[in-house]
Amino acid sequence: MAEPGRLEVKAVSKSYAVPGRPRLDALVNASLDVEPGAFVTLVGPSGCGKSTLLRLILGLDKDYEGDILLHGERIAGTSLSRGIVFQDHRLLPWMTLEQNIGLALTNSTLPPEQQRRTIQSHIDLVGLQGFEKAYPHELSGGMAQRGAIARGLVGQPEILLLDEPLGALDALTRVRLQEELLRIWRAEGVTMILVTHDVDEAIFLSDTVIVMNANPGRIVKQVKVDLPPGLRDRVSPAFAALKREILVAMGEVVPHAAAQLAEA
Ligand code: ADP
Ligand code: MG
Repeated sequence: MAEPGRLEVKAVSKSYAVPGRPRLDALVNASLDVEPGAFVTLVGPSGCGKSTLLRLILGLDKDYEGDILLHGERIAGTSLSRGIVFQDHRLLPWMTLEQNIGLALTNSTLPPEQQRRTIQSHIDLVGLQGFEKAYPHELSGGMAQRGAIARGLVGQPEILLLDEPLGALDALTRVRLQEELLRIWRAEGVTMILVTHDVDEAIFLSDTVIVMNANPGRIVKQVKVDLPPGLRDRVSPAFAALKREILVAMGEVVPHAAAQLAEA
């Protein structure tokens, strides 16, 4: 019997039919255990199956091999227990911020007054108080992404899936929102599964970094980040060592400088 609250990805493979060509292996034999309240990051080059894995966990696609279990039960379709944030905020332009966030509660059984309070508390959580009636075009890129995070969390999911949520932001806004994500993660106690191709971001935020590679898409390594969250100095030797370990697993650098010399 599976432990309650755990997300288990067991030997999951997913291929896509491509007209006139053999099926494309987007993900091969991926296995992963995520404890409740963990912050897990998937890193890897474009095309290694990161978004595919998130879509399967979200429940958007049931056509795969293997098993994805939450509380020991196979995920069957989307549910309020899993929220998602994409790289583009996907807020509807004709709705205000609070209306956009409220959309995520369409299938909620909460009474309207409680829905209203939950929407407000999530606007406050992401620091957008005062912008309840603002339309998306009145928000900066960073603010719109905060709105998307509030929308992802308003249904009080157990798991928040984040598919390169900071990828389109400028460097300064990005670093600020990384700090915000940590704060929100602590405040909500939600499990976070974040996709990024920024190795620094992965080490800064998560307790486990899942390294993936492409052709075919697969998990090549799981790296524990044993540094205290919120106190991760991006230029410390410990941080650099983890970064090297991850880049080596990605095939981006050779295992050690000595190996480079030996080859020369
Ligand atoms: P990532 O998010 O890591 O960039 P994806 O999961 O989006 O990777 O894609 C993995 C592979 O599957 C890529 O080669 C991509 O082109 C392919 N792929 C993704 N979605 C589809 C689809 N709907 N149909 C066909 N191929 C797809
Ligand atoms: Mg992707």
